[in-house]
Amino acid sequence: MKYDFPITRTHEPKEKPNPDNLEFGTIFTDHMFIMNYDSEAGWYDGRIVPYGPIHMEPAAAVLHYAQTMFEGLKTYRAKDGAIRLFRPDMNAKRTNITNDRLCIPLIDGELFVDAIKQLVNVERDWVPNKDGTSLYIRPFIFATEPFLGVRPAKQYTFAIILSPVGSYYKGGLTPTRIFVENEYARSVVGGTGEAKVGGNYASGLKSQEKAHSMGFSQVLWLDGAERKYVEEIGTSNAFFVIDGEVFTAPLTGTILPGITRDSVLTILRDWGVPVREERFTIDSIFEAYGAGKLSEVFASGTATVISPVGDMRWKDREIQINKGDIGALSKRLYNEITGIQTGELPDKYGWTVEV
Ligand SMILES: *Cc1c(COP(=O)(O)O)cnc(C)c1O
Repeated sequence: MKYDFPITRTHEPKEKPNPDNLEFGTIFTDHMFIMNYDSEAGWYDGRIVPYGPIHMEPAAAVLHYAQTMFEGLKTYRAKDGAIRLFRPDMNAKRTNITNDRLCIPLIDGELFVDAIKQLVNVERDWVPNKDGTSLYIRPFIFATEPFLGVRPAKQYTFAIILSPVGSYYKGGLTPTRIFVENEYARSVVGGTGEAKVGGNYASGLKSQEKAHSMGFSQVLWLDGAERKYVEEIGTSNAFFVIDGEVFTAPLTGTILPGITRDSVLTILRDWGVPVREERFTIDSIFEAYGAGKLSEVFASGTATVISPVGDMRWKDREIQINKGDIGALSKRLYNEITGIQTGELPDKYGWTVEV
């Protein structure tokens, strides 16, 4: 550990939750990491303190103009007891891509990863050890300067909180039902689609609620200009297996560069599976289905790792992929990535970092 972050321990440690019924993002650990920024001092006063409310002024810029970003990653407890992070350097890199887009001051990548490691180290006992469980890590930065004019703020807080989470899939990988969104857009060229910002999520809620009310679990986003090209599924990257080739949208500014996406592509190339990172239309997907060539659809992201799609509805057409079952490639990718994350498979890409 390179940085010397002072630790203030809680006097009221919480009881650890039952690992059998953990949900996503409802329980938080005893401590959090906090660091401040001021345009004169730079980033300063990194510290680990008891988890609790953060005080800020009602005029804090984030509450008005949404100058805020977040990241998400997980840490796992291996069978041998070791605690490992998965590719945290990628989260550090992406943080600065997002910060740059939102005019938030950049943060040193090593400091970012070290802060995560030190906080997880303090909370080691909170990393659950049941199969499929993990400790979710949520770093985020928000503008705290009390000022209502519109310009980048001069004061920020960088915080990291931790949440023990269960397996996303109770009873195995369950395929989802997806609604192809024709009305709303997640991202446009020149917008913030490739940055991890809260505003992208707020603007997607309306569409998600619409999909839920019709019995779908997520939406598939088309490009914001023509509503023709496939972009993402919910808050995950999207993959389509057609005739033995795997298609995913290219990183041209409107797609969030997922770390799971990058891992999937690396592994597929290693396996010799042909990969096509190029634009493709929703029409071509339904055409491939009609020709019997669409064998699998899946989404990738930190929370679910790999999430197979069972049914997909676009306008008045609804198709069922692989008879609504998880496909062989989806399953193989899920096993490979989770195997590396938990230390059950060799980490041949050097992706895990022990805490
Ligand atoms: C976070 C996110 C992803 C997935 O990224 P991972 O690094 O794989 O978790 C995909 N799409 C969107 C819109 C996201 O916000």
